[in-house]
Order: sequence, then C-alpha cells, then structure tokens
Amino acid sequence: MPDSMPQLTLHDSRRRATVPFAPLDPGNVRVYYCGPTVYDLAHIGNLRAMMTADILVRLLRHLYPHVTYVRNITDVDDKINARARANGETIDSLTARTIRDFHDDLAAVGVLPPDVEPRATRHIAEMIALIECLIASGHAYEAQGHVLFAVARFPDYGALSGRSPDDLLAGARVEVAPYKRDAGDFVLWKPSEPGLPGWESPWGRGRPGWHIECSAMSHRYLGESFDIHGGGSDLLFPHHENELAQSQCCFPRGRFANHWVHNAMLLVNGEKMSKSLGNFLTIRDVLADTPAEALRLMLLHAQYRSVLNFTRAGLDEAKQTLNRFYRAVGDLPPDAAGPVPGAVVAAMCDDLNTPRALAEMHGLADRALAGDRDAARGLRAAGQLLGLLGQSADTWFRAGAGVGEAEIDALIAERLAARAARDFARADAIRAGLAERGIVLEDGAGGTIWRRA
Ligand SMILES: [Zn+2]
Repeated sequence: MPDSMPQLTLHDSRRRATVPFAPLDPGNVRVYYCGPTVYDLAHIGNLRAMMTADILVRLLRHLYPHVTYVRNITDVDDKINARARANGETIDSLTARTIRDFHDDLAAVGVLPPDVEPRATRHIAEMIALIECLIASGHAYEAQGHVLFAVARFPDYGALSGRSPDDLLAGARVEVAPYKRDAGDFVLWKPSEPGLPGWESPWGRGRPGWHIECSAMSHRYLGESFDIHGGGSDLLFPHHENELAQSQCCFPRGRFANHWVHNAMLLVNGEKMSKSLGNFLTIRDVLADTPAEALRLMLLHAQYRSVLNFTRAGLDEAKQTLNRFYRAVGDLPPDAAGPVPGAVVAAMCDDLNTPRALAEMHGLADRALAGDRDAARGLRAAGQLLGLLGQSADTWFRAGAGVGEAEIDALIAERLAARAARDFARADAIRAGLAERGIVLEDGAGGTIWRRA
C-alpha cells in the first residue's frame, strides 16, 4: 500500500457518521453483504444494493492487497415455498433457475461475483449450533416447537437502527403469536409440516427463520469480527438489528461488523417501485432496450446514500455520457489503461462519491477529446475502477449503429409525443441519442423523416 494512499471515509450506520475506514487486518479486508432471496427475477432496487457492494469492493481491491467478499443466497424462505407451489414446480428447480438468472443479470451489468457465495440450506448445522448457543446463554427460548430470540435479554437491542424497543414494536409489523413472551421476539427456528423443507434439530423437524443464516454464514467465513456489513436501507431493521443481536450474544468478545454500509432506496419516476403502480422493473425489463453499461452508469448518477430516481431520461443521459467517454478513449483498447487518476480515487474514497468521480471523468474526457493520450488512458483506468468502459469504442458504437428501423420509428413517435407534451428536453435527448448512433432526423412539413449519416 503506497504512502500516498488516500484515506477512505465511509458512512457508518451504527455511529451515524462518516468516519475513516480502518481495516481490522489490512492484509485481508472482510466484507459481508446480504444477497437475494431466490424466488423471482432481481429488480433494479435489488441491483442498486448489489452495485453499491460492487463499487465498494472494487475500491477496496484497489486500495488493499486482499479482500474477502461474502454474499449469501437465501434459498429457504416462505416466499420460495409459496412461489414454487404457485408455479407447480419443485423448490430446487425454482431456486436453481432463479440463482442462474440472478448471476446472469448481475454479470450483464458488470457486477463482479463475490469470493464466497454461501447458500443458507448448506449451513443448517451452523445455524443450529448458534441457536443452541443462544438458548444456553439465556438469550433464546423454545416454545411449541419454535425457538425465539428474547429481545428483552439483549439490552443493546435497537442500538444499530437507533430506535428504542418500544418504537420498534410500534413501528414494525410484529406477528403476535401465543408462543412469544414478547411481541418483538423473533423466530430463530420453526416447525416444518410434511411437504415443506425441513431439517432434524433438537427442537424437532423444522427450518430456520431468516435472520440466523447471516449470523451463521458471516461467522463461518469471516469470523467473530469483520470489517463491513452492507445492504439496502430496508434491511437495517429488523434484519440487521437481529443479526447483530444474535451474533453479539453468541460471540460477546467479537464486534460482528465494524462498519455498517446502507444504500438509500431507488424510486422509479419519483415513486416507490411497486407492482400495483405498474412501475416495477426487473433488470431484464430495462436491458431489453438499453445497453447494460448505460443502466450501470445511471445507477452511479447518485451517491449511494441519496435516493436515486430512475427515469428514461436518466438512462438516455447515461447513454450520451458513454457515447462521449467512448469517443474520448477512441482507439485505445480496454486494457490500455494507465494508473487511475488520483482525483477519481479521491472522489471514490469520499464515501463512494460517484457523481464527483463521474465529473472527474468528464474532465478527463475533455482533455482526451482535445488530444491528450494520457487523459484517455486515465479515463480508461477510471472506467475500470467503476466497472465502466469495458469494451472497445468500436464495439460500443457498432452495437449502437445496429439500430433497427422499428426502433427508430418508435423513437420518432416517442419524440413527437414528448414535443406534444412540451417535454422538449426529452425530445432533444431522443434526437441527440439517435444522432450519436448515426441516425439524423429532419423535421419537415410532412412530418419527421430520418436518414443514416
Ligand atoms: Zn443478512
């Protein structure tokens, strides 16, 4: 690690402050992220969390010699059971297909795989051992075939999410059940009826609750204390609060995660994404008509702790930016990168300030377009740090030049509608986007015609 290495600062949810990041072991930085529950295609909100992890791990790999990145797969869950039954397929077939799709979709967007990707169903023995430990230490109790964590026995419960136990109960949708001592107690293990997945345990045939798997798998692969735990802000409570409670009670000398990173949510056209609003977008929905790199770049437009508003105009802007960056790198091949310019590293070390990093890249593009080859090499290197500019300019523009007539006609119609709605920014963006792809629009008395430049 060079002396001039910039100091990485990261926001820590537990301390509620942006603080310098100091690894427990600079020779092996350890990161855990909560991965998908595998019953359906990943949506772009899921992607934002996976992308935040990706740029964080890419930066850590740039700064430190070795990083161990663990991201789990939740493959036992009531939603999986219900979906498999609704589809009329086996759970194994549903989870195997969904995992394949998840890997394909993330790879398309340039999200690198984790070093370890443990599956919950392969770590039941570790979960049972943790639950036994929690019962033995008085933090959990068995009732009617269930094992529950007793939140009243852990005084620090709520410290991570910053809510008092009373607020937590009022705010959370807590399941009231006769076998619970306290409404806020959460399930570590529950009985499984025949026909549902189940494992033999000291409490009968059953299956784990959701939270215990991350305590078990992070301990198995990263130890009692590790550097960074991350996920979407929706996981802060109750999931991460519960993980922390379990792990701190089992391993009181450890700290569990030293640093908690949570990304803000993603909106679509200013609204929370939901199936009922009709604005629910899977990664595949977006990639059907958008280059994957443009989706990736769009997700970097906002710093990870800011709410990101996903719009078509934002995707178009991302495409324009990539057109500009690829023009700037010109014939420089993807592997001809120079060192990553210090200003770009500094921006990323400023709590993953991707808007600032992209602004620095625009500055490099200015100089590269004016003929500065070093700036072009710097732009290539900055692209590698952010997982962008992974192809030759030729490949990027040829993919764009393959634009078909149906797509052009659809875009012309969309531009007409945008003008009618006085959305001139959108109309201009469509014209500029087509121009970048070698399609020139000409407005005349008889309407809009197009030609290849
Ligand atoms: Zn988790």
